[in-house]
Amino acid sequence: MKRFLKILSVPIILGGVAALVWLETKRPLRRSRESKLTRSGRNLAVAGLAALALRLTEKPVATRLAGLVEEKNLGLLKIVRLPQWLEIVLAVVLMDYTLYLWHVLTHKAPFLWRFHLVHHVDLDLDASTAVRFHFGELVISVIWRAAQILVIGVAPHSLKAWQMFLFPSILFHHSNLRLPESLDKRLQRFIVTPRLHGIHHSIVRAETDSNWSSGLTVWDRLHGTFRNDVSPEEIIIGVPAFQDRDEVVLTEIMPLPFENQKNDWQLPDGDLPSKLFK
Ligand SMILES: [Zn+2]
Repeated sequence: MKRFLKILSVPIILGGVAALVWLETKRPLRRSRESKLTRSGRNLAVAGLAALALRLTEKPVATRLAGLVEEKNLGLLKIVRLPQWLEIVLAVVLMDYTLYLWHVLTHKAPFLWRFHLVHHVDLDLDASTAVRFHFGELVISVIWRAAQILVIGVAPHSLKAWQMFLFPSILFHHSNLRLPESLDKRLQRFIVTPRLHGIHHSIVRAETDSNWSSGLTVWDRLHGTFRNDVSPEEIIIGVPAFQDRDEVVLTEIMPLPFENQKNDWQLPDGDLPSKLFK
């Protein structure tokens, strides 16, 4: 049965991704600046290296540590014996919160930002951006992931549940899918939507410094970083210092973390982007 479900999960995932990509082209939220084909190829190349890095580093570490949590009753959720469903729900919620904290760190710590920048310099935002992370960022984040699993007490079934929640969530909120505004607003009460995450990818820093959550919006609300007051038509996606298409090609973005850093939040002419820029 388990094997059957595993085999079945592949067409479900691929079908879901294909449906999302198709809907993005039917009902786009923002106008694109680059060709979708060129960007998708580039983003999938970055994602290929990222997937390899995850397989070699995060997967073995996370699997082993989650097994250890179960075996030795490690972490917060193992202090008292909880019903399994409750343990899984709490684990997903706490993993989501601590991922929010990690995301803030990737922006605020200059060393981490060098890597997370590669995700943000994309000139458009769609489902392919969701998997476009520099392999270095993912390798470094294994340390955080290990701490999350051990401190929270994330057992193998909880880890699986969190991964099953996170992957569709990041694909969805990075997508360029225009949902009816009323539906988007209703979803915003609970989860991050494409409109919300678009604000986080704006070239205006005050807008980027908001909506850090990767799943539940409650964390941004609690920290006062929730914003839904910018419409997609007002947003320019990317990072101010990287507005030239030649600067965001594959051969330019992969070495970015290892090069001298620009003043990322200034436009090439030295101005700071604001609403006036548009
Ligand atoms: Zn970010």
